[in-house]
Amino acid sequence: MPRVAFLGLGAIGTPMARHLARPEFDLAVWNRTGPKAEAMASELGVRHALTPADAARECDVVITCLPVSRNVEALLDGPDGLLATMRSGAVLVDCTSGDAATSRRMAARLAERGIGFLDAPVSGGVVGAEQGALTVMVGGDAATLERVHPVLACFGKRIVHCGAVGAGDALKAVNNALLAMHIWGTAEGLVALEKAGVKAEIALDVINTSSGRSNSSMNLFPERVLTRAFPRTFRLALLDKDVGIAADLAREHQVPSPLLQLTAELFRMAHNELGEEADHVEAAKVVERLGGAQIG
Ligand code: NDP
Repeated sequence: MPRVAFLGLGAIGTPMARHLARPEFDLAVWNRTGPKAEAMASELGVRHALTPADAARECDVVITCLPVSRNVEALLDGPDGLLATMRSGAVLVDCTSGDAATSRRMAARLAERGIGFLDAPVSGGVVGAEQGALTVMVGGDAATLERVHPVLACFGKRIVHCGAVGAGDALKAVNNALLAMHIWGTAEGLVALEKAGVKAEIALDVINTSSGRSNSSMNLFPERVLTRAFPRTFRLALLDKDVGIAADLAREHQVPSPLLQLTAELFRMAHNELGEEADHVEAAKVVERLGGAQIG
């Protein structure tokens, strides 16, 4: 029976890990704050690991899902680290929305020990994770992906091989930069319309059957901004990180990218203003404050 470990039981990691609690896998879960993993392990009848090394022992596939790539890199070393127990032939699948440079560095270190590495960030949000319907963007060796495909398919509906190590990270960052642009742009437009006397509900109704629509206008604004619900599903701090990765990617490849760089600045500003726990859609509140009107 394949041994699988899942490390990082955050907002998205928790529902992803739940799909791996199946009779065909021997699953261990680990989390920095131990009681979360302990509670999940006892609820699902899987193993609770006390350290990353303990989770990875004898494993075929180790999955990580932490805020940034450097958090994953920091789990590799030391007596409690993954490298203390991961064996040759195993694969580390990093589902963090990470950065390509750190992923390449990790892949090179693991390769020295015969361990495979895939960057495999996901999209689809917490709801997609709960439904096992995520899109998984994979960077790395195609044969390695084929080996771990049945594991990723437990939470991924679309598993797309994007290219070499780092390709998944790059694509995910650009996707999320577009999300950030849509949130900010939709908020600016709706605040201006409110001040011009057009209600947000009417504006969205028209935009959503017209060419200006996006996931933000169709789902996020009606469900989270107009209702003032702003549920916390994906931290603004993490979206700030993603837009920063996309802006750096464009710079690294000398692509003129004023819009990406500006979006990175705007989301850094919103993150600084609203703090670590705010949800990404709350960036609209900053636009409302600057514009002096509430949406809806
Ligand atoms: P959360 O902030 O909800 O959770 C982060 C997880 O990482 C927690 O389990 C936390 O442990 C752990 N963690 C934080 N810092 C460290 C560290 N230094 N060392 C070890 N563990 C650490 O994040 P999400 O689950 O929302 O996001 C995880 C990744 O998935 C991010 O890269 C994010 O961008 C991406 N993502 C998130 C989506 C979402 O909708 N939420 C959608 C798609 C991608 P502890 O419990 O101890 O705090």
